[in-house]
Amino acid sequence: RPVVIVLVAFIAVGIITMVSISVVQHKPLPQKYKYGIVLDAGSSHTSVFIYQWPAEKENNTGMVQQLHTCNVKGKGISSYSANPNGAGTSLQECMDEAKQKIPAHRHSETPVYLGATAGMRLLKMEDDPASEKVLVSVERSLKTYPFSYQGARILSGQEEGAFGWITVNYLNENLRKPTGTLGALDLGGASTQITFVPQQEIESYDNSIDFRLYGNDYQLYTHSFLCYGKDQVLKLSMGEKLRSTPDKTHHIELKDPCFHPGYNLSKTVQSVFDTPCMQTVNMQNETFTHVGTGNWVQCQESIRKVFNTSHCPYSSCSFNGVFLPSVDGNFGAFSAFYFVMDFLNLTNDSFDKTKQKLMTYCSTPWKKIVENHPRIKEKYLSEYCFAGTYILTLLEDGYKFTPENWNDIKFIKKIGDSDAGWTLGYMLNLTNMIPAEDPDTPLMPHG
Ligand code: AMP
Repeated sequence: RPVVIVLVAFIAVGIITMVSISVVQHKPLPQKYKYGIVLDAGSSHTSVFIYQWPAEKENNTGMVQQLHTCNVKGKGISSYSANPNGAGTSLQECMDEAKQKIPAHRHSETPVYLGATAGMRLLKMEDDPASEKVLVSVERSLKTYPFSYQGARILSGQEEGAFGWITVNYLNENLRKPTGTLGALDLGGASTQITFVPQQEIESYDNSIDFRLYGNDYQLYTHSFLCYGKDQVLKLSMGEKLRSTPDKTHHIELKDPCFHPGYNLSKTVQSVFDTPCMQTVNMQNETFTHVGTGNWVQCQESIRKVFNTSHCPYSSCSFNGVFLPSVDGNFGAFSAFYFVMDFLNLTNDSFDKTKQKLMTYCSTPWKKIVENHPRIKEKYLSEYCFAGTYILTLLEDGYKFTPENWNDIKFIKKIGDSDAGWTLGYMLNLTNMIPAEDPDTPLMPHG
């Protein structure tokens, strides 16, 4: 009997050992991830992006993914010019969240970058010391975290455009293939960027950027229009209308075809002219009534006035004398291009349908718009007719898209799990994660 027990025990131990060995053998090796953090300090708000990638595959295209985003409460950092310390403090909640999301043992090797865009470019033009103080404040705040702080700076418009292009092409895995690339259209609150590989020569040095990525050479056309983001261009357009509105009775009534019929709100003149994008007027202390008339055709006419097309020193221009080669290939249009067109349900329509739907939308009474969207803040809600019309006009009159190639523009928010925008391209570049040569193609010896 003891022999039987010993035998059973042996068999049992054997089976357990075999099972445990096979479990150990079949268990995949735990994936090791690395992390990076980029703060997008935009004109209207700041977002914190956390990226992750498998530790051994960082040089492969498409390997970096967005793990998490956090929207900083309150306005963009450029709004803290009178209280710079508030800019740094505003980042704390999202940075505390980043500490929770990223495993503690990776904290010290996780790079953190802050890039500020057109809101800070404008503040720098308006008040350089104030913009420096804001940057010092965010730097001080970011340095209190256990991550590897890499700097806070204002991106140039060219960088913003080029890194947005890298992001969308990296995520689409276009960079290691001989197939074409995707152009990038980015619309912020204070600037807008267009970036693509043109078929013709780039006639202006300022608009040209060269890259060598994964063994391929790219010559990009890029331009960033400062003051032509959706919030600044609304100011330009309203400023233009205010200047031409007579002030007969010491009360200005601004009739605006880009706002819905029945929209009626008292605003200060100062709120329109508080920007270096326009020369000030001497009626700063007055208020005016902003009255919507909801007429799409007139709205588009008024928006056309902010594009100066009177001179072009090149073979072709977009507006304001800026060189533009003819648009070619597919484009990804993201950030506010997407927010606005998605809200208006215009991301999949033909050019004519888009125009038609916008016309109907703009003439819809304000009361009805509010009833239909009770949860959307009225400030945002009131501006979609203007913003949609601006987008159409910018793309058609500014960039010369036509009804025939309108559907080459894809309105996108994300590619896979990652948002389209400059942040990912910026991090890939600064961490050297996009090699100039293709790591899988052995270099041919010379000779
Ligand atoms: P920026 O802060 O410069 O990156 O600009 C972002 C722009 O997108 C601003 O004009 C915002 O007002 C706008 N925006 C953000 N979210 C939405 C949304 N859900 N609907 C409409 N516009 C938006």
